[in-house]
Amino acid sequence: MRLDVFTLIPGAFDWLKERRPVAAVLGNGLELNVFNYRDTTPLSAGQVDDEPYGGGPGMVLRVDVVSAAFEAVYGGLPGHRVVALSPAGRLLDQELVEELAAEPALTLLSARFEGFDQRILDHLSTDTVSIGPYVLSGGEIPALAVVDAVVRRLPGALTEGSGEVESFSAALNGGLEYPHYTRPADFHGWRVPEILLSGDHGRIAAWRQEQVRSVA
Ligand code: SAH
Repeated sequence: MRLDVFTLIPGAFDWLKERRPVAAVLGNGLELNVFNYRDTTPLSAGQVDDEPYGGGPGMVLRVDVVSAAFEAVYGGLPGHRVVALSPAGRLLDQELVEELAAEPALTLLSARFEGFDQRILDHLSTDTVSIGPYVLSGGEIPALAVVDAVVRRLPGALTEGSGEVESFSAALNGGLEYPHYTRPADFHGWRVPEILLSGDHGRIAAWRQEQVRSVA
């Protein structure tokens, strides 16, 4: 999969490349590129934003800046899904993550300030995605969330089997995972459920199934 992220803070993505799951598949099923709008802006002095028409506070990311970035990277429109990150978008859930992870290539657009010129959403993007009903200061944290969630679903990203029985997975009927415990078995009287220490794999599997909670 090819993942391209457009941002004003490329450094925000550095640690992600060094850690699992991204590090496990980089160059081996995943190509991750991070582009700075400022590097290709047609405006002088690295300008990328402007005052909103009609007045009001804040600055708006310009459509010609995003278009020039696409021209430089793709020679035009990307020709694959372009996700603009915005609080007004479709809420990111596991279903959408699976859908995006099945794409051969994906572009993520992040904005700061007041957000995107609407024409970026109307003409340069195919999807608008929100990571939740709250406002963050920029699209970098949302883009990190999308990259991490999508990359987890790529073959080889996780250790064998660990991505199959998880919250929201088909294996749990879309429910929330059962609780986990590890040593010590007794910590100041907080005991691990006896059944998990029983060695009876059938009863343990049944107990875990009982503990799965449906999403409210
Ligand atoms: N003025 C906008 C908020 C802009 S926040 C409004 O009222 O809706 C600046 C940028 O941060 C957004 O353009 C978007 O790229 C990103 N952002 C903030 N919150 C987000 C969220 N919940 N999901 C996805 N992106 C978000």
